[in-house]
Amino acid sequence: MSQTTQQKIDQWVMNTYARNPVTFVEGDGCQLKDEDGKTYLDFLAGIAVCNLGHAHPGVAQAICNQALKLTHVSNLYYTQPQARVAELLVKHSFADQVFFCNSGAEANEGALKLARLWGKEKLNGAFAVVTMQGSFHGRTMATLAATGQVKIQKGYDPLLPEFRHVPFGDLQALQDIWDENICAVLMEPVLGEGGVLVPPPEFLAGVRALCDQRGALLIFDEIQTGLGRTGRLFAHEHFGVAPDVMTLAKALANGLPAGAILARREASALFGAGAHASTFGAGPVVMAAAAVVLETLTDPKFMGCVQETGAYFKDRLLELAGKHPQAVEGVRGLGLMLGLALTIPGAPLVKQLLQMGFVANCTQDTVLRFLPPLVVTTPEIDALIGALSQVLAQARPEVAS
Ligand SMILES: *Cc1c(COP(=O)(O)O)cnc(C)c1O
Repeated sequence: MSQTTQQKIDQWVMNTYARNPVTFVEGDGCQLKDEDGKTYLDFLAGIAVCNLGHAHPGVAQAICNQALKLTHVSNLYYTQPQARVAELLVKHSFADQVFFCNSGAEANEGALKLARLWGKEKLNGAFAVVTMQGSFHGRTMATLAATGQVKIQKGYDPLLPEFRHVPFGDLQALQDIWDENICAVLMEPVLGEGGVLVPPPEFLAGVRALCDQRGALLIFDEIQTGLGRTGRLFAHEHFGVAPDVMTLAKALANGLPAGAILARREASALFGAGAHASTFGAGPVVMAAAAVVLETLTDPKFMGCVQETGAYFKDRLLELAGKHPQAVEGVRGLGLMLGLALTIPGAPLVKQLLQMGFVANCTQDTVLRFLPPLVVTTPEIDALIGALSQVLAQARPEVAS
């Protein structure tokens, strides 16, 4: 008997993922279809990646056209799609220059290298970087040391030293640990993997002021929050605070691997020829897709819709929370990055939702996380709310006897 796709992957691919028993074969907008022809509504978008939806015609066309023209020549030469994406990113952000790579961890890795150069050049050799407890910055050796979660680091010690973790939202704690060795703060404006946590209103401005006072770099990891996810092109816009450096990845090319470091010139100028590099970074096919993503996201009408849909989704979740106080603790998030904090484990609910045809995710054990394609419609949200209502009605919190 021939093996199924799932058997082959379980046998021959290293078991680093707790995979759900579904094999997806195609998608369209917010819809996914598995190999048995069953359809699903996607409220995860490949973890905040397919922000324009699956099989977006504009993105697909750009990929096809570029693939038939030129796929790779290396960064020893100039290519047109890279110029277009750099122009769009700089025009629509605080940044003066961009470095392109292929993933989120790689973007953060590069930003940490830039922070080291900054410490040497401007702060007498300062080398330490402050990050937040509960943060997530990636799985490479530097970024897992930066990540403020012990479970991600387990087994990989000794870790790269000189990361200082402080509680998210606690400005006093940041002030208290500050010393002359600190060259940068690296943080997500809203914690993603950490449980969809929005900081207190003045936190980002406080961190900005402290970095300014000490001459340290402020680096925002907007790998998950950026590119329209929160209803603004970048989440920091909600707080009126701009960083010196920002990392992007996930949604940048709507599913093709792309990452970027954006920086003000004072920082970006520290990367001279030979200081950093990537073979695949800014490949023409990936950049052709990214150009369509950025052109779509920067259309003001598009972001207006994301804000409206996000507000509608949040209202419906709040309504649901009111009806199921025994299972729901609260609703949090911004735009279409929303979390339903439960009083019970979330994994069984995610499993039930999947059986009912809804793709969602649980983070930090008890937070259902919703990151749908930004083109999700209100009827699609209503369908999810209906399913959630059913699974919450059945869920019984463990009663202490
Ligand atoms: C996903 C994520 C990363 C890591 O990105 P990869 O592309 O998986 O390396 C880093 N930071 C944040 C905030 C993320 O959500």
